[in-house]
Amino acid sequence: MIRIAIANQKGGVGKTTTAINMATALAATGSRVLLIDLDPQGNASTGLGVDQAARVRSSYELLTGDATVEEAVIATRVPRLDLIAATVDLSGAEIELIDVDNRTHRLDMALAEAADGRWDICLIDCPPSLGLLTVNALVAAQSLLVPLQCEFFALEGLSQLLTTIERVRARFNPDLSILGIALTMYDRRNRLSEQVSQDVRATLGPVVFQTVIPRNVRLSEAPSHGVPALIYDYRCAGSEAYMALARELIARLPKLAPAKVAAA
Ligand code: ADP
Ligand code: MG
Repeated sequence: MIRIAIANQKGGVGKTTTAINMATALAATGSRVLLIDLDPQGNASTGLGVDQAARVRSSYELLTGDATVEEAVIATRVPRLDLIAATVDLSGAEIELIDVDNRTHRLDMALAEAADGRWDICLIDCPPSLGLLTVNALVAAQSLLVPLQCEFFALEGLSQLLTTIERVRARFNPDLSILGIALTMYDRRNRLSEQVSQDVRATLGPVVFQTVIPRNVRLSEAPSHGVPALIYDYRCAGSEAYMALARELIARLPKLAPAKVAAA
């Protein structure tokens, strides 16, 4: 199972929208996908129509060791897409895990114990911080997908993320790579969007995906209906963009380091 963290410590850049719709697009192409909601806000869980009452076991119990992946997983209405939901309990996890052994490796350990072969790809939706939750995702992942909003300060904060990635590489996960950077909320009527897109490509080079996710109202409406945009309106520009992004992402997968061998 390939594990990909969707991270950027800025809030509102499209992490969760990307997580839900990439998970759905990958499932639509035939992959069996596990999405882990690691944000206490639980927006990925809500956006997939999994209400609070259904979140009996969640990513919180996964981190504390009180549930296995098999116990926490919930089927979604999207074929081939399963979810490990988030609850507000997760907001206490950063503090509660301080005294716990291997606190940076809790997610990695839980995933290592999961039955191998049930899923092809695991996506991890990170919270808007570089705290212990995101570090757990970066330790568990082979690679990262970084959404970057097409706005004036797009690159601001990226250096902090890169520093965190370097630290995680140096201490815990030397093979952690950046699979790609996805430009989100591109507004073609706004010249700034194009300018930012050009600047980001000039600065960061081919790591930036060719596909750009447009600002699209269908993408923001879908979560309130509890379905991915790809199901809410599969023909909208946002859905088409996420399908194209999924194809690009799949093409990059063979370059990844081999999946971690489950701990014996
Ligand atoms: P993050 O998880 O990084 O905080 P979200 O994915 O939750 O960001 O997006 C923040 C807000 O912007 C949400 O209300 C979401 O519906 C909206 N949004 C995200 N991407 C787009 C897009 N491409 N077009 C329009 N709205 C979007
Ligand atoms: Mg989010």
